[in-house]
Amino acid sequence: KYMTTAEIREKYLSFFEEKGCKRMPSSSLIPDDPSLLLTSAGMVQFKPYFLHVKEFDPAYIGSTTVQKCVRTNDIDIIGTTGRHLSFFEMLGNFSFGKYFKDEMCAWAYEFATEVLELPKEKLYFTVFENDDETIEIWKKLGVSEDHISRLGEDDNFWRAGPTGPCGPCSEIYFDQGPDFGCGSPDCAPGCDCDRFLEFWNCVFTQYDGQEDGTLAPLPTKNIDTGMGLERMAAIMQGVQSNYETDVMRDLISVGERLSGKSYKENAESDLSLRIIADHSRSVTFMIADGILPSNEGRGYVLRRLLRRAVMHAHKLGIEGAFLSNYVDAIVRLMGHVYPEVVDNRELVERVILSEEERFGVTLRQGQAYLADALEKLEGTVLDGATAFTLHDTYGFPVEITEEICADANITVDKEGFEACMDQQRERARAATKDDAEAAWSTYGGIHDDLLKELGATGFVGYDRLTATAEVK
Ligand code: ATP
Ligand code: MG
Ligand code: MG
Ligand code: MG
Repeated sequence: KYMTTAEIREKYLSFFEEKGCKRMPSSSLIPDDPSLLLTSAGMVQFKPYFLHVKEFDPAYIGSTTVQKCVRTNDIDIIGTTGRHLSFFEMLGNFSFGKYFKDEMCAWAYEFATEVLELPKEKLYFTVFENDDETIEIWKKLGVSEDHISRLGEDDNFWRAGPTGPCGPCSEIYFDQGPDFGCGSPDCAPGCDCDRFLEFWNCVFTQYDGQEDGTLAPLPTKNIDTGMGLERMAAIMQGVQSNYETDVMRDLISVGERLSGKSYKENAESDLSLRIIADHSRSVTFMIADGILPSNEGRGYVLRRLLRRAVMHAHKLGIEGAFLSNYVDAIVRLMGHVYPEVVDNRELVERVILSEEERFGVTLRQGQAYLADALEKLEGTVLDGATAFTLHDTYGFPVEITEEICADANITVDKEGFEACMDQQRERARAATKDDAEAAWSTYGGIHDDLLKELGATGFVGYDRLTATAEVK
């Protein structure tokens, strides 16, 4: 049964509202939580309720939201799988001690099979290792045993970061058929390919992960669930990937119009069209939430996404500033759900244009410099100093250098690059010892609020956060 993205979103929220959950707005992409770089899941705004340092409105059994999410751990693979986006919407519902496994599994099954009318034989369920209880619950609901499997910690124990609320989970998958698969005889839910599409994670949030790695029980047993809206839209619209769903396909069309290239004609241009469609959303929403490009923390994630989009636009032959065309489409397609992109549109356009102009000037020169370096290169590793010059003089985020090098089977000496970065930071510190703000501003003119925030939270950088923000 075909459903638009908007219909699925509304059906989910009203379903859980009818069960007694309070419908609440998405929180900002800037989490109110120093342990996280960006909001990567619906549960982030509810951590204080899971911990019971704040009590949830007693008139409700919990909450339901559609949460905007950005996941840095997925940036590198954007466009190469059909199911990963750097920006996506997560539908969720949350209980802080009021309802638990029995109700949650029953409602998830009801929503999937009765509201969305997904065929039961295509649904698969996974549980955490020894969670016999949840297996029994699914079986009682009518799921046949051969559609239930056990997975270990990597897949079925969910945590948003190294510490905080977490717990075992049970996930629901949709079998898209062998055409989507890797073909391996071992292919099953949990496989990295797109055949068994994970669409819903139900976390039984029972623990508070401690600094020392141990798990302390939470005062109550809770629920935290997340369903990828774009993934469900792909299922309901019977399309091959998240990129062919109504909203995302419209963004691909913007790229088609600007480049004169058609989607599904050429693998290389398809990848660029997908990357820009995806990154344009992250960038728009990040700026609308007050993040500005910089060389540190979340501002760096933004800059990296923006510049990568510009590089792929160049690959497609799109000349000059172009991203505002995507912003127009995003405002039109998503503004009714997220008024912040409408309200802050001018800021978004201004920030994007300034980055496009800055990077537009140096991109070609940088590409020529890198091509020259690659030509002269002996061996398969590009030295850190060259990567640093590309970063410092031409504005190439090191991940972009790595991406271009990877096309030529070359890797980048990241350690050498980091050493050059450290030296530069030292020089900047020495030059502006008493003036922290000036030191920050040498890294690309950070907005005052952002500056305060970064100063206050003391981010150690993007790399560490990538590692810890991998959420399961
Ligand atoms: P995957 O294994 O496919 O990477 P995940 O296990 O990392 O997904 P969860 O952390 O369990 O995902 O998040 C809950 C739900 O959010 C997923 O079941 C999926 O529907 C959706 N989701 C997660 N990551 C993405 C993404 N990068 N793009 C789109 N949807 C996503
Ligand atoms: Mg998974
Ligand atoms: Mg993932
Ligand atoms: Mg998962």
